Amino acid sequence: MYAEIAIGLAARKTFTYSVPELLREKARVGQRAIVPLSGQLKIGFIVGFSSGDGQFDYKDIIDLPDLSPLVPEGLLKLARWLSEYYIVPLGLVLAAALPPGVEEGKASRPRKEVREKMGAYCEAEPVFQLTTAQKEALGTINAVYSGTFVPFLLHGATGSGKTEVYLQAIKPVVEAGMGAVVLVPEISLTPQLVRRFSRRFGEKVAVLHSGLTPVQRRQEWHRIRQGEALVAVGARSAVFAPFERLGMVVVDEEHDASYKQEEGVRYNARDAAVMRAKLSGCPVILGSETPSLESYHNAASGKYTLLELPGRAAGRPMPKVSLVDLKEPADGSVNRQPAAQFHGGQLTEPLVNAAKARLENGEQALFFLNRRGHSDFIICRDCGEVPKCGACSVSMTYHRQAKEMKCHWCGAAYPAPSVCPKCGGDRIKYVGGGTEKLQRELERLFPDFKTSRIDKDSVAPGGGFVKLLDDVASGETKIVVGTQMVSKGHDMPGIGIVGVVLADYGLNQPDFRAAERTFQVVTQVAGRSGRGDVPGEVIVQTYRPEHYSLQCASRHDYKSFYDEEIVFRKELGLPPFSRLALVIVKGVKPEKAQAGAASSAEIFKKEARGKGVEVMGPAPAPVKRVRGKYRHFITLRSKSHKKLHEVLEAGLKLIELNKAAPACKVEVDVDPQSMI
Ligand code: ADP
Ligand code: ZN
Repeated sequence: MYAEIAIGLAARKTFTYSVPELLREKARVGQRAIVPLSGQLKIGFIVGFSSGDGQFDYKDIIDLPDLSPLVPEGLLKLARWLSEYYIVPLGLVLAAALPPGVEEGKASRPRKEVREKMGAYCEAEPVFQLTTAQKEALGTINAVYSGTFVPFLLHGATGSGKTEVYLQAIKPVVEAGMGAVVLVPEISLTPQLVRRFSRRFGEKVAVLHSGLTPVQRRQEWHRIRQGEALVAVGARSAVFAPFERLGMVVVDEEHDASYKQEEGVRYNARDAAVMRAKLSGCPVILGSETPSLESYHNAASGKYTLLELPGRAAGRPMPKVSLVDLKEPADGSVNRQPAAQFHGGQLTEPLVNAAKARLENGEQALFFLNRRGHSDFIICRDCGEVPKCGACSVSMTYHRQAKEMKCHWCGAAYPAPSVCPKCGGDRIKYVGGGTEKLQRELERLFPDFKTSRIDKDSVAPGGGFVKLLDDVASGETKIVVGTQMVSKGHDMPGIGIVGVVLADYGLNQPDFRAAERTFQVVTQVAGRSGRGDVPGEVIVQTYRPEHYSLQCASRHDYKSFYDEEIVFRKELGLPPFSRLALVIVKGVKPEKAQAGAASSAEIFKKEARGKGVEVMGPAPAPVKRVRGKYRHFITLRSKSHKKLHEVLEAGLKLIELNKAAPACKVEVDVDPQSMI
């Protein structure tokens, strides 16, 4: 008897070992095994058995340390799919799927105080009548025969009552003793949300996210594995919750780009969640106010069942959105006197006046600018020197508060120079502006109102994030300045007005999803206003007010946006009308990276011939060098994902076999979300 063992190594294969007589009875799929490999002991997982051909003298498994399989069968199936679909070794997928050191911590119980801090405690909750739309949606979901995979797309605005639908759809699943997976973007996984689930399901809730300590993660994992917790609420990795019997999968904010893991195992947790439901034979609910084009297209073509929740559940009106045109025609017909100006942006009178009125009325104001830091770069007025990152081909961003120059790609930072590092001149110019500069400008404009900033920098350890949020919630902070980070998750009921300072940052990204992302972020940030008793107001500043993504966002009209965007995707043959894969060839030496990319592209082109797969490139990546490595992209595109995979697999094998990219690393990103 032989066992196939997956080991967490980069090698894209499993290893065969002989199962000694003594261990035969115990050996099962999903169990961990200790095996010898290249003179070392390794821990792997049994993923299958064979009788072997007897030709080869396989080594023995040394030991099976667990009494029962650590990984339930359903999870192993998912891991297999991920490994094949994303072209990642199975051992690495399994390693990513389990909390590190999962075998430990079995005995210890999570302390009550710790779980309470995570929001996991019970208190009374309001009871209300479901709206007609909620009832209908729930009825459709509940009508699914148990044991069947049915994907739903739940489309409804923030506050339309989607979470309530999830909660009630999960209830019968838990009552039947089955598990439910609930994925939310990391940033939305707030104590408020966990509390809502805990009020319904009490101790049956397990929380999984990257903010937990390794011990906490293991404890939560074991509570699920032992059947104690039946509802796993978490970010990306909760898709791997080790339920034996799964009855429901929910993905909130399904369009969110953060579901795509960009490092290590590059998978999309939303898609993995749909596959997990399929493999487990249970319904999956994808919820969003602004569904991804892919998911809505699936609904439009009948693959998914569309459920709509129009309006807001508690009867609050949608905010009024107006667009302010920043263009100034040369003939002087429009004279946009900015109330305040800073490099890279301006605050127009309509926005400043509206904010003033709201603030004086005791409401809070939120200013959104999707760029952090103080200045995009600094330049010496004497010699023209611009400080660049030593490891990446981008200029360093100036952060005033930290007095640092930071690379937004690799995180490198050094003290901001007071004189030009090249010529020693002291005439430094600060060009462009981010949230830090905007905050200073607002402090100048509104000196009587407390301002705070929420972005990656203020959230950094020691940034006092919780205090920042508390001050917003208590009303002490009157003006919030933030990046995408404020667009979701945190409860800010006092916000009366939202200003989008420059929508064009998003619109002009070199990415085919730029319009989609802009529509999503403007809609989402607009949803931050008027959640309390006051009807909200949103003002979007832009040079392209006629752009359909802004027009549709201002009317809360997802369908019209979709109808326009889908035509563009179809004409250009972009997803959802094709599948993409990005092959990234990286190397420290620029010549090697370029040569490796060229010969790899040749191989893919040859493999693709006559298969309906297009191979584009190689081309230097828009950001040519990151963390000291030069990057080249080869893009593969096909209508058939099967053909695309065949070409990818075959090409990668040949590249390895022929050593076509020496001194390079070749990575694959299937269904890429970011192409810069
Ligand atoms: P979403 O998840 O779509 O943002 P929620 O489920 O969080 O929406 O609902 C928004 C708010 O409305 C919550 O405070 C929730 O308790 C409340 N709510 C949900 N459904 C109803 C209802 N049928 N009647 C009254 N309030 C509701
Ligand atoms: Zn860098």
